[in-house]
Amino acid sequence: STWHILGAGSLGSLWACRLARAGKAVRLILRDGQRLQAYQQAGGLTLVEQDQSRHYAIPAETAQARGPIHRLLVACKAYDAAPAIAGVAPRLAEDAEVVLLQNGLGSQDEVADLVPHARCIFASSTEGAFREGDWLVRFAGHGFNWLGDPRNPTIPAWFDDLHQAGIPAEWTVDILTRLWRKLALNCAINPLTVLHDCQNGGLLGHLGEVDALCAELAQLLHRCGQPEAADGLNEEVQRVILATAANYSSMYQDVRAGRRTEVHYLLGHACRAAGRHGLQLPELERLLQHLVDNLRVRGLPCD
Ligand code: NAP
Repeated sequence: STWHILGAGSLGSLWACRLARAGKAVRLILRDGQRLQAYQQAGGLTLVEQDQSRHYAIPAETAQARGPIHRLLVACKAYDAAPAIAGVAPRLAEDAEVVLLQNGLGSQDEVADLVPHARCIFASSTEGAFREGDWLVRFAGHGFNWLGDPRNPTIPAWFDDLHQAGIPAEWTVDILTRLWRKLALNCAINPLTVLHDCQNGGLLGHLGEVDALCAELAQLLHRCGQPEAADGLNEEVQRVILATAANYSSMYQDVRAGRRTEVHYLLGHACRAAGRHGLQLPELERLLQHLVDNLRVRGLPCD
């Protein structure tokens, strides 16, 4: 059946183009009539890979279009996922499967609460893509995708579509552990790069702070029933800082570009989880407070 893709931004376009190129039926669901009209004027998506640029005339519609949706890839930012799914919820079929590409945690449950009849599959992606313009996306970093369903270990019937489309992916029964680990890495690195105004490598001058955060994050992961996500966290954080020393973190880039961050679903989620468990994590709480202050001064949303 058709892959409906909600949100034709960086990752949504990357998935749509690869599925379409493999001959899979794909339809984009765009924000509103105005965006649809702009898309139709462009005549499709363009994916740039190395120096190859290819055009894909993928059909598009808005949420108001008719027809049931059996398979939906949600490719919005975490803060847009629930409002976006609300618009298409009436079209979701009885057997609908929804794949959630959002970084962090919290948005997946917001979506699942809105569509209790659908199967929600969570994904964690390390692929990199960015928009060079409207409907023009550059595939910048090869990576991998983990997919899983915390409530049902059965691999979906369509999983081989991904391999056929050249999307590197594996099914896992531990998707929550993967998402928690990625969230913890993000909490230990990204906010500090914003506060110290530096590349990831700049944190080598602040390893005391990084260590203290890792210790609290490990405590939190244990309390949340995710001990494996805590395993060797500090060492991996240091490896990531070294391996990506010249990179600017995604949160740094969002702040620099004046874009809303996903902090609510990253550090914000960690602090809320600690609160729910009655766990005092002063370093993490102070970090969130400083980050919120920093965003507020810049006039950006604080969550
Ligand atoms: P993005 O480029 O900003 O794309 C998000 C898209 O969602 C935009 O095209 C936006 O539409 C669309 N959208 C928002 N609300 C919508 C609605 N109600 N109906 C239809 N479309 C709607 O974001 P992204 O970088 O692809 O990120 C998506 C998620 O993947 C994030 O959680 C991110 O952290 C995660 N992720 C991204 C990457 C990456 O390399 N980009 C890597 C790993 C994980 P408009 O165009 O109209 O604004």
